[in-house]
Amino acid sequence: MERTKPIILIASFREPSSHGGDLERDAVESSYVKAVLDAGGDPLVVPYGAVEEDIIELAFITDGLLLPGGGDIEPTHYGEDRREKIENVSQKRDELELMLVKAFLTKKKPIFGICRGAQLINVAMGGTLYLDIGTDVGTATQHWTEEGVAVADQFGFDRHTVEIEEGSALHTYFGMKETTVNSLHHQSIKDVAKGLRVGARAKDGIIEEIESVNMEEHWILGLQWHPEAIVELHPENKILFEKFIQAAHKI
Ligand code: MN
Repeated sequence: MERTKPIILIASFREPSSHGGDLERDAVESSYVKAVLDAGGDPLVVPYGAVEEDIIELAFITDGLLLPGGGDIEPTHYGEDRREKIENVSQKRDELELMLVKAFLTKKKPIFGICRGAQLINVAMGGTLYLDIGTDVGTATQHWTEEGVAVADQFGFDRHTVEIEEGSALHTYFGMKETTVNSLHHQSIKDVAKGLRVGARAKDGIIEEIESVNMEEHWILGLQWHPEAIVELHPENKILFEKFIQAAHKI
């Protein structure tokens, strides 16, 4: 039988099981799984306990990698020794996802990173992050507020506009120079890794999208916002999943 759909690996996280005690479960938020299914991909969740040889095998047999949102990345991975305001660091998750990105970089297979996922791609490729936007940049644009969390409407917390750069793949996909996105992050990309370029920024200059400098050669895209949460409200976000699946289908 011939395969008709690309297989998309989705990185999981670990959380306590509802059965209590020491039981844990490997999980992924269903909004990512749904977005991949809706765009025509077959999602496959990476077991949290996977080791390097498993990762290499999985990168060999699958077609694309999706890195979801989550906690902060251990700052030493990008040469930073401060730790103020760092939240929900998991060394194990960092290691797992860094291995996944390296394996997919080697194979030149598509990589799509969302929120923490975009930051992880940048770090894996040698870039850096702002530890905390409020502390390090201190701009007026609301990327994450308690009020935004309290609202938690369908749009997904705080929101702001982004300016899309002409010449970027994002501009080609969206066909517009500005759009409104949700915002649910206190960190962001600082120095962009070699091989990547910026495709969108918030009005305060914060990087909201990165992509490969050559999308034909290697499809890599990272978003600071959560497209999976606003596909109904802003349908252009669905295009991103479709382009990802198309790129994975070519592999
Ligand atoms: Mn933002």
